[in-house]
Amino acid sequence: MKKITLADSAGFCFGVKRAVDTALKMKEKYKSEIYTLGPLIHNNDVVDFLKENLIFPIELDNIDSLKENDTIIIRSHGVSEKALNVLKKHKLNIIDATCPYVENIHKKVKKYYDLGYSIIIVGDKDHPEVIGINGWCNDSALILKSGDPIFNIPNKVCVVSQTTERQSTWEEVLSVLIKTSKEIVAFNTICSATEVRQKSAEEISTKVDAMVVIGGFNSSNTTKLYEICKKNCENTVHVENLSGIPDEFIKDGNLKNIGVTAGASTPDWIIKEAIIKINSGK
Ligand code: SF4
Repeated sequence: MKKITLADSAGFCFGVKRAVDTALKMKEKYKSEIYTLGPLIHNNDVVDFLKENLIFPIELDNIDSLKENDTIIIRSHGVSEKALNVLKKHKLNIIDATCPYVENIHKKVKKYYDLGYSIIIVGDKDHPEVIGINGWCNDSALILKSGDPIFNIPNKVCVVSQTTERQSTWEEVLSVLIKTSKEIVAFNTICSATEVRQKSAEEISTKVDAMVVIGGFNSSNTTKLYEICKKNCENTVHVENLSGIPDEFIKDGNLKNIGVTAGASTPDWIIKEAIIKINSGK
């Protein structure tokens, strides 16, 4: 039998759980097909489960195919002001499941943009949450990652972070900004759920023989967990579900202590199935 250590806060965070629960409740309430603007979460197993329950993802470009009063759910990542207005214009029944922590970033960005600050977002420019945040300052934000060459930084900046950003990246970008800008308003908007999950992954991965990180390959917070663990433990794998766990993790007697963590969009049932498989010995 292996010793398995499950990281604190592995799996669904508050915002993602709230979005999934909301979608299922709305399905129950309206008893007809409902839609999510983009896949509700970055996890294919969950998206397939939702489709089986007649909850379908739809992209903004295809919104014309919906009828007036069709129900559409905004996912926890949130959307830009423009996207919200498109949904309103189509007179859809909008259920906003934007995580309150993300909504708080939208409000800050809008407020400081209106006050004349240039907005800087520390995060991934292609991530839907960052695209949504940028949409509250007229898509004018400078989006930075650590190591990015930073030129022409305005003197008066308001800096926020993607909620799943690494603390070290936030600190690195800030350390550059304090040298380039005169007036800096900085809100560390990294979500505490992310911080706790990353710290726990960091700790566990220094103590185990192998580490399994579970979550969608398109989930940025899972990828960050993988990077953290891989730094400390060479035998780290990123899998979407139990089918990706390598045989040697299960059968190799030298790999006695296995750590497990999971991204914010990974449901409990996928984590449990993975643990059972590692313990099964086959
Ligand atoms: S990681 Fe934090 S901010 Fe992002 S959805 Fe989850 S609870 Fe909300």
